[in-house]
Amino acid sequence: MKNNIFSKIINNEIKVKIIYKDKYVTAFNDINPKSPIHIIIIPNIYIKNLNYIIKDNIIILGRMLFIASKLAKKYKINKSGYRVVINCNKNAGQKINYLHLHILGGCYLGDIIN
Ligand code: 5GP
Repeated sequence: MKNNIFSKIINNEIKVKIIYKDKYVTAFNDINPKSPIHIIIIPNIYIKNLNYIIKDNIIILGRMLFIASKLAKKYKINKSGYRVVINCNKNAGQKINYLHLHILGGCYLGDIIN
């Protein structure tokens, strides 16, 4: 485990309200939400970012997306729509070196691709 905020959350060194946890992933609200719903999902094991994914981690990646869809439903943004974002490295604006997935929703998010 590295010395960053998300490692500390996983290690219980920093207390946050965990909104979902299972064998593979943990989810909590973003401290500085960019939309009315802004949830972070992280793996329970340390992975720096998508560049460090190995074949054995496929189940974790699948779980992150599966739980994103479940939480979108739980927080009632599945029908209005939401965005899932994984930033990787500097040009994408990754600030925390611990793989994480953002779920953003609850308002119109604008177009980023087209
Ligand atoms: P990144 O830019 O690395 O993809 O996203 C990092 C996210 O982590 C940001 O949206 C930021 O607001 C969030 N964040 C940073 N520090 C904390 C913290 O201590 N607690 C929580 N819950 N979120 C954090």
